[in-house]
Amino acid sequence: MLAGLDSEAEAVDSAAESASDFAATNSFLGSNSGPAGLTDSHCHLDFPAFDADREEVMARAVAAGVERFLVLGVTAKQWPRLAVMAASFSRWRVAYGLHPYFLAERVIGGEPELSDFANDLALLPEFLQKDALAVGEIGLDATRPLFDLQLALFEKQLSIAADMNLPVILHHRKTLDTMLPMVKKAGVRGGIVHAFSGSYQQAMQWVDAGFRLGVGGVITYERARKTRDAIARVPLNALVLETDSPDMPLSGQQGQRNEPANIARIALTLQQLR
Ligand SMILES: [Zn+2]
Repeated sequence: MLAGLDSEAEAVDSAAESASDFAATNSFLGSNSGPAGLTDSHCHLDFPAFDADREEVMARAVAAGVERFLVLGVTAKQWPRLAVMAASFSRWRVAYGLHPYFLAERVIGGEPELSDFANDLALLPEFLQKDALAVGEIGLDATRPLFDLQLALFEKQLSIAADMNLPVILHHRKTLDTMLPMVKKAGVRGGIVHAFSGSYQQAMQWVDAGFRLGVGGVITYERARKTRDAIARVPLNALVLETDSPDMPLSGQQGQRNEPANIARIALTLQQLR
């Protein structure tokens, strides 16, 4: 089963990785270093939640067979620290983007407008040029405020991704069907739908648009019937494993910090569902 997850990427020579090549993302997500090499394709290891024991968390992941970490950008304020950390951890690769969850905090004591993000948007390509694998995490979250601003920033970042020929890593909450036409219109060549949850039909619409689906702790919950059913049926090479650490704890670990070592349990659950 796991060999199947990696089959597409195995065809991609790791030496051919380049920052602006979608193949680089596939190569990174797949295994180039042996059958046990799993990837956490979505985590926030740079977050303060890991400041006290980051190296131990990574060591536990490696011991569980999780050898690579894709760490995501969320705000322009966070990008420089992420870049510095990524330079010191050879197992890390990065993406940069403006996450819809954090827009309100851009302006202290007021409501931000698109113009408040002009500098961030100008800076984004500079960071992306530093060896980033994707633009992310970006998207739309219907449970968060400032939806018009979210839409404007999402559109701008999609166009940067299309211009730079980079894949995107998409955050969504009750917005999958809004986002798909926007992604297609922008001419983005694919990416990952982070924490996919939805029906088989929705899953296949994204797969047909060139996307892979991020499979995380959600599938360890028996009540997630629709998502488990969809994940069991889509082509295996359209799935990537992820934790979203420190968030999205697995079933039985509610209230605890999530960590990349849990990729092993998510992989096992996926194997059981297939
Ligand atoms: Zn995330």
